[in-house]
Amino acid sequence: MERILIKDCLILPMTSEPSGGEEAQEELVISGDVAIEGDTILQVGDQGELPPNWKPTKVIDGKDHLCLPGLVNCHTHAAMTLFRSYADDLPLMYWLEKKIWPVEARLSGEDVYWGTALALIEMIRSGTTTFNDMYFFMDEVAQAVEKIGMRACLARGLIGIGVQGEVALDESKQLIAKWHKQAEGRINIWLGPHAPYTCPPTYLEKVLAVAEEYQVGIHIHLSETEGEIRQIQKQYGKTPVALLRELGAFRYPVVAAHCVHLTDEDIRCLAENGVGVAHNPESNMKLASGIAPVTKLRAAGVAVGIGTDGAASNNNLDMLEETRTAALLQKVATGDPQALPAATALFMATREGARVLGLGDEIGMLKPGYKADLILIDLKQSHWYPKHNLVSQLVYAAQAHDVDTVIINGKVVMENRKITTIDEELVWAQVEERAKRLVEPG
Ligand SMILES: [Zn+2]
Repeated sequence: MERILIKDCLILPMTSEPSGGEEAQEELVISGDVAIEGDTILQVGDQGELPPNWKPTKVIDGKDHLCLPGLVNCHTHAAMTLFRSYADDLPLMYWLEKKIWPVEARLSGEDVYWGTALALIEMIRSGTTTFNDMYFFMDEVAQAVEKIGMRACLARGLIGIGVQGEVALDESKQLIAKWHKQAEGRINIWLGPHAPYTCPPTYLEKVLAVAEEYQVGIHIHLSETEGEIRQIQKQYGKTPVALLRELGAFRYPVVAAHCVHLTDEDIRCLAENGVGVAHNPESNMKLASGIAPVTKLRAAGVAVGIGTDGAASNNNLDMLEETRTAALLQKVATGDPQALPAATALFMATREGARVLGLGDEIGMLKPGYKADLILIDLKQSHWYPKHNLVSQLVYAAQAHDVDTVIINGKVVMENRKITTIDEELVWAQVEERAKRLVEPG
């Protein structure tokens, strides 16, 4: 069994909850070593104990590095890297119907494998260790996750109109049977009804029956645009949130992506039912969907994680950048510079994200007994000087390139910026060739 010792680093364990806007968060940072045995953290600074005669099989020099829990991307469609920058600056429904859905119809399982591989490399390179995905050809997505070494929640996207809805639901069951808790426990399977406007109530009821049978959660786009709210109000006379509640969806763990347009009653309902929200500020900005009321949601007690959404609507999967945008956007939205301070934003990108995905007891903190999902940030860069407040610097100044080494489930998947689990240039070549064919058929 591998035993890794990271020596002499600064450590941001994320074990204390952020308490407010003004105070410096420097006290959150400690210094010392981090010890890992197998997939588990044994010691963090002076927390936890090493067994007598414990000897590492690998030592990483942590000098001039900041060690913190890996970031949690709460909502994405990984393989959409294939369509990065293919169709930009368009309204959501036109973009989906005229641009994205037609090219997606030409995707093969292999395309999705390579597009996902590219996404995983990009996420690891920018400090993400866990992601929550909704797409199709999910068997191939799981294979890429298994090979490259990330932690993932995977859902087969479900559109509940026509026979395809039944086929996709069957595929979801097969996915659960084959992959739930597999890849050393790194993979969890969820159900992925796309949205209330693509999954009518009769279909959602079938999805919920599967959630009941297999005891898995629901990952859904919810209250993303004003158009969606108008359509659902017109069809069912209630908000999308109220519709889901009435159908009984909130009896199961739910990750609701976006939640941009909510009434106060919706917010109360999400809080009361423990629904987790995935906030995707850059996708919402790019598609002009609006600004999610994150400050209000968190004040009401809703767990809000951060997500990038797919690379076709962002256009990158950089959670450091997304976390910064989340913090900045709430200040603009509320007119209050104290809204969503740096420590809170970082908390959402790690611990709260883990909680949203139902993994709060396993990841999101550096703590003995937790899974060893952690990243090392190289502090020898101009934008890290002077070091007044490392938490603020991480949120407001850090760049993806600062991420130097990434460990997931106790395994080094990137060391000194080199991906260890797959040939990165092979992935680039595959994606380039496949993406061209997809957008220029025949
Ligand atoms: Zn999405």
